[in-house]
Amino acid sequence: MTVRTRVAPSPTGDPHVGTAYVALFNMAFARSQGGQFLLRIEDTDQARSTAESEAAILEAFRWLGLEWDEGPEVGGPHGPYRQSERGALYQEAADQLVADGHAFPCFCTAERLDEVRRAQQLAKETPRYDGHCLSLSKDEAAARIQAGEAHVIRMKIPETGSCVINDLFRGEIEIAWSQIDMQVLVKSDGMPTYHLANVVDDHHMAITHVIRGEEWINSAPKHRLLYDYFGWEAPVLAHLPLLRNPDKSKLSKRKNPTGINYYRRMGYLPEALVNFLGLMGHSMPDGAEVFNLDAFIAAFSLDRITLGAPVFDQEKLAWLNGQWLRGLSDQAFADRVVDWGLNRDSLMPLVPLIKPRTERLCDLAPMVGYLLGARRSLSAEDFEGLALEGEALLEALQFTLWRLEALGDWRRPALVATVEGLAAELGLKIRVLLAPLFVALSGQAVSLPLYDSLVFLGPDLSRARLREGLEALGGVSKKAAKRLEKRYAELDQGGADEESAAES
Ligand code: GLU
Repeated sequence: MTVRTRVAPSPTGDPHVGTAYVALFNMAFARSQGGQFLLRIEDTDQARSTAESEAAILEAFRWLGLEWDEGPEVGGPHGPYRQSERGALYQEAADQLVADGHAFPCFCTAERLDEVRRAQQLAKETPRYDGHCLSLSKDEAAARIQAGEAHVIRMKIPETGSCVINDLFRGEIEIAWSQIDMQVLVKSDGMPTYHLANVVDDHHMAITHVIRGEEWINSAPKHRLLYDYFGWEAPVLAHLPLLRNPDKSKLSKRKNPTGINYYRRMGYLPEALVNFLGLMGHSMPDGAEVFNLDAFIAAFSLDRITLGAPVFDQEKLAWLNGQWLRGLSDQAFADRVVDWGLNRDSLMPLVPLIKPRTERLCDLAPMVGYLLGARRSLSAEDFEGLALEGEALLEALQFTLWRLEALGDWRRPALVATVEGLAAELGLKIRVLLAPLFVALSGQAVSLPLYDSLVFLGPDLSRARLREGLEALGGVSKKAAKRLEKRYAELDQGGADEESAAES
């Protein structure tokens, strides 16, 4: 058997270090076994998937030195490797499930489902579909579909007993079917959900080992059942431990930058980041901490993975990066500095900003310091004397951050519209809103123009600095966050919640 693994990112946001971690382990396992590693784009969530996000993920993976044998751009015998281009396969699979009596059309409205959920919550039951449309006769269902009534396709779940899944790291895990929802497989727009597309693709792409984050364990019974319904052999399942913040909570951008591009822009070497990710839950046989990708692949073994919470520790990463930097020859070091940002292409966008404001070239460094390098660390005093203070100040920073987190288009006009729109909604003069943003981004009360700074810094660094600004002000307590979320939802566009469209 040839080992075939895959990483299956959803292109719905910035490239995440957790995705790179899963990709790295899948690639290392496949290579260590003489197998193949695939990259598949899971873009069935049309509302949230973007071509920009996909391109950014591929670029970030390439920067890290991760290479896929099959997938977008490289092709392969099992393509296309983008789920949005594989619709016919899912349709066929769903039709087969319905024909075999393993899945059924469901016409329940969102209102009815809400009511059911509320009643179940009141009764302290696990919220799940109540099987209402299971009783429809085939003819009635067919007639309603014929009449154009909106519907989804749900999978049937056994009424009694439990599902046993076998996780390579955890052994047998038993989950009662009563805990498992009659999962939607095809949405009302005809698109498959993650569960259907993922199983169909893993089968057709001949994946032998599904190695993914532990957040997917709860989906495994549904997948297991789908394999049984189709009569397909299920791949080996191995759920990697989740990356953690230092306080052991799930790695989150609120506590730790999670974007690969953040680390790239901050001047971490790809070798160091890969090396660091290779230490997350896997240890080298000789206990080495500094190693390159080839050494990692040569030593990689699923047996060496431990389930203790791997902490994404910034200090350790910075130490490792230092090791890697010091390992470079002087020549190579200089080359890296140039590649990183001190080159003509990177500096060009700054020229129109600096030229009108400078008399001597030596004035440059202090002026662009916060753009090229790290800005100095902030404290609450930096925000003193601004028109906004207290909760209004927190609100201004947090709301801007939320708006910018939801912003896919990072060009100047979109940034201007976003920040000015927010100022108008908050009833603030634009100057008043911009002032704390200047401080958070640059560490100075006066800096180069804000929107140009945002464009130059890019989404990852900009957002990280706004988060650091909030931290410097003492952070947002849980209670304050609740209040802010409520206020935010009341704003004109505030309801555009990133998560709400997630059907997975
Ligand atoms: N598209 C899923 C994700 O974004 C893939 C999960 C899996 O590997 O099955 O993580």
